Amino acid sequence: MKEHEERRIRVALLGNPNSGKTTLFNALTGATAYVGNWPGVTVEKRSGVYRRIKGIKLEIVDLPGIYSLSPYSPEEEIARNYIIDEHPDVVINVVDATNLERNLYMSTQLLEMDVPSVIALNMSDILDKEGKQLQAAQLAKVLGVPVVSISALKGKGIHELMEKAKEAASTPREGRTVLSLDKTMEDALDAYRKAGIESPLFHAIKAMEKDELEAKKNPGPYKEVTGILSSSEKDYEIEIADGRYAFIEKECAPLQAGRPKEAREKLNFSDKVDKVLTNRFAGIPIFAVLLFLIFHIVFSEDFLYLSASGAIQGTFAEGTMWEGLFYADGAIMSPGVILANFVNCLTGGLTTAVSGWFTDPSLIPLQGFICDGVLGGLFAVIGFIPQILFLFLFFSILEDSGYMARVAFIFDRIFRRFGLSGRAFLPMIMGFGCSVPAMINTRTLVTEKERIQTIRVIPFFSCMAKAPILAAVAGVLASDFGWVASDLIALGVYVFGMIIAIVSILVMHLTTMREKVPPFIMELPSYHLPQARALGIHIWDKAKHFFKKAFTIIFLTTIIIWVLSHFSWDYTYLANNQINESVLADIGRLIQPLFTPLGFGSQLGTAWGWAFAVTAITGLIAKENVIMTMAYLGAAILHIEEFGGSDVEAVQALVEAVTSTGGVLTSGALFAFIMFNVLTIPCFAAVATAHAELPKGKLKWTLLFWLVVSYVGGTSFYLMIDYPWTIAIVAALLAGLFAFAYFYNKKMNEKERGVTA
Ligand code: GDP
Ligand code: MG
Repeated sequence: MKEHEERRIRVALLGNPNSGKTTLFNALTGATAYVGNWPGVTVEKRSGVYRRIKGIKLEIVDLPGIYSLSPYSPEEEIARNYIIDEHPDVVINVVDATNLERNLYMSTQLLEMDVPSVIALNMSDILDKEGKQLQAAQLAKVLGVPVVSISALKGKGIHELMEKAKEAASTPREGRTVLSLDKTMEDALDAYRKAGIESPLFHAIKAMEKDELEAKKNPGPYKEVTGILSSSEKDYEIEIADGRYAFIEKECAPLQAGRPKEAREKLNFSDKVDKVLTNRFAGIPIFAVLLFLIFHIVFSEDFLYLSASGAIQGTFAEGTMWEGLFYADGAIMSPGVILANFVNCLTGGLTTAVSGWFTDPSLIPLQGFICDGVLGGLFAVIGFIPQILFLFLFFSILEDSGYMARVAFIFDRIFRRFGLSGRAFLPMIMGFGCSVPAMINTRTLVTEKERIQTIRVIPFFSCMAKAPILAAVAGVLASDFGWVASDLIALGVYVFGMIIAIVSILVMHLTTMREKVPPFIMELPSYHLPQARALGIHIWDKAKHFFKKAFTIIFLTTIIIWVLSHFSWDYTYLANNQINESVLADIGRLIQPLFTPLGFGSQLGTAWGWAFAVTAITGLIAKENVIMTMAYLGAAILHIEEFGGSDVEAVQALVEAVTSTGGVLTSGALFAFIMFNVLTIPCFAAVATAHAELPKGKLKWTLLFWLVVSYVGGTSFYLMIDYPWTIAIVAALLAGLFAFAYFYNKKMNEKERGVTA
């Protein structure tokens, strides 16, 4: 078959959120697009090719999920406009067969367009398991389009689906409706026919629903319909919606045959689980306990205390080869820490081996560059990849199982009071992974203000790249400053980040962003057993992302840091113990006073104190740079060419260097350091995304917001921890802020009412 003979068919996947479009898209095109068990994961369209039908190239487009073709949110608009304007050859309507009635609502709208369509009844595997059946052939007869049962997940029926799509694409189709048209509707339809508009049925019905997009798109016939409507008493918006539901209930719902008893019981089971998990009082504590367990498994240095069990003691105790790897201070480390130890052992060994190649004294600068600079920086990032992936695995499981959607539901109750809908919680939770996709996901939010608020607080949901900062600094706080376990500190930082996000939203809602939020109706997706393949894809994507970053941006920063720290202003090479005279040290000293209110500025002295200022700044490029810089400087301080220690040891070395040269470094300052990094301007990539997603002119305010919050937040933490009596002051200031916001809002409301009255 020659290239030019190949036929092209453009196929669009359309369906409700969470119906399995992206899973189908991945199955068809071999892509690894993000699949998540909650509505609104796909917000952009994405395309790929299906090639298994000979001589035909089927181009598949995955559209954002929508509940209806009457757009309320930007992604609904994207999907609708795609079908109207880009004229795909065929639309595959992906329907979640376990949720037939809701899903078919949009199908009845799609049928009204003059576009060839095929319905894919997805999730047939679940129906099979539950012993249910759906009569596809009957449904096809009722709806007048081909219907194919598939399981996107298991790849079942998808080839047959594509065959059907191919056939459908070659026959033009005229729209038809499941509604019975009265005289007024016929008149409206005539108006559109006369105007020569494509898909007149669809557009006429939209005009009857007073659809805003329709008014903009076809103003002529729309006006005519408005005239026709004015002589009618009926409210067609309600009339039409009722008509669709009535049709579905009467004609389609009965085709779900045989709901055997055990299936019903299973449904009840899921309901029962939801009763507990989304309980008004228990919901949040359960979420907190789950979070704690996850952090304990990933970050805890003392995961499990070995008490009397002598056998285990004997194997792991002091002096054995396992000490430091599995076991320290009477406790077994958590799986996450053990994994990290292994990687550190490996990278440490590698560094030692490499540094052994440089025996000639004249090669010492090169050795320093390669071992401390290049390898040190790379390995600092790679060293914590296991923990990041581990953490990410747990978050993916929570998400994929459908639990995170419940969490969003729980938080909706709280958020609504602050003027945000639970919808906003989904992108925020995604922020735990990475701010970039989370910010893109805010497109699912309905109002602009909600989007701006959400984008602003997303970085407070500490991303994976910040996790190592928490882990390393919390490790030092626990080992050198007598604080409780490091996993609790890490958890605390996450929780404080969330609290600060909520406080910020509340204040914004009362002052600069006063606006009512549209109601949020969320479908709770059914529970799934997380799929190994989907989890694998998530983790692999994440790993790739970090490796790419390690070898590009972090690698580059490492080299810059190395050069700046090993040369003085007059280009002389400096050995490790002379770094204090370097260009970098001078730059650090220059900005150091900026951080004095936060406890890690001038207090740290001039000998090594500049290091913390420098790390905070490199973090603005990528948050991984913070730990990279610390590990690098820590290694240099230790004067160990073959530094193979962990990030915790590096930070420890830095802390010791500061305090032994007369600097004062308190635990409050270390907390402030963590909080500053969590709250401040996120990495380059996230700022660029915020720039793209925010309305014009909002970026500068957003950057200012991040700076102010991180500065004030960091300072507060420093003061509250080192001088506990300042808690009263901070609390008073917070109360003052709330009071101001509250009265400001009240006054504005009165003013507005005054204007309208
Ligand atoms: P989208 O929002 O329509 O793109 O839906 P996704 O493709 O993200 O899928 C939503 C959830 O449904 C994911 O957890 C998928 O693993 C799951 N899923 C998709 N297709 C099937 C299927 O055929 N069977 C089962 N059991 N689960 C599926
Ligand atoms: Mg999707």
